[in-house]
Amino acid sequence: MSVVNIAIDGPSGAGKSTISQILATRLGLAYVDTGAIYRAIGLYMMRRGIDCADQEAVLRALPSLEVAVSFQGGRQRTLLGGQDVSKELRRHEVSDCASKVSAMPEVRAHILTLQRGIAAQHSCIVDGRDIGTVVLPQADLKIFLTASPEDRARRRWNELRRRGQRLSYEQVLRDIQERDRRDSERAVAPLKPAEDSLVVDTTGNTLEQSVALLQALLLNRFPAQLKEGKPCP
Ligand code: C5P
Repeated sequence: MSVVNIAIDGPSGAGKSTISQILATRLGLAYVDTGAIYRAIGLYMMRRGIDCADQEAVLRALPSLEVAVSFQGGRQRTLLGGQDVSKELRRHEVSDCASKVSAMPEVRAHILTLQRGIAAQHSCIVDGRDIGTVVLPQADLKIFLTASPEDRARRRWNELRRRGQRLSYEQVLRDIQERDRRDSERAVAPLKPAEDSLVVDTTGNTLEQSVALLQALLLNRFPAQLKEGKPCP
């Protein structure tokens, strides 16, 4: 196999992005954050004053969207119209908008080729909701990472505080539950483990425990392709 594609799916706040980023950096892989692509679409709509729940308006604006990603030492930079918007994408308001636009089948179809193209070119960990089921059904390894809603809300709340956004824990928990509902109930590419995925529950784990668990799993599965300290794309 020339490139190795590892799919990591799961609900918001399960630790996918943090864990995937650390593993990618340690094992010489690119980290592909597909949530950031949906967030970039959400941000694009917000900047144009479009209500992200207004399907007609979102679809009308879609053809002029220019979203791209690039990698630097395994880290993804997400570009909107050529401008690096990676930091802005993590804002709380963008999460909600991303979740709404991602429920639209046309939006999902619009970025399918982009996601597959990246995976074809790089050995990578691809983090999302439908990577193992829709985007890369032939991925070499599929992991479904999950944790209780309360654990996930606590982690997201801490992350937002570190970034200077002050929301109550209850608000973050409500938003996570609402996004879980939207992600799992949508008609197209709903959030669910692929049949051949390995389900890993990180409830109660420290970050380092989860990283160690998955690192051992990956090194064991791909001994010839992955090794610690290998440079990233
Ligand atoms: O992972 P993250 O929270 O950044 O994703 C933002 C939103 O994009 C999620 O709420 C989810 O609805 C959507 N998403 C998706 N499919 C993916 C990645 C993210 O629907 N592959």
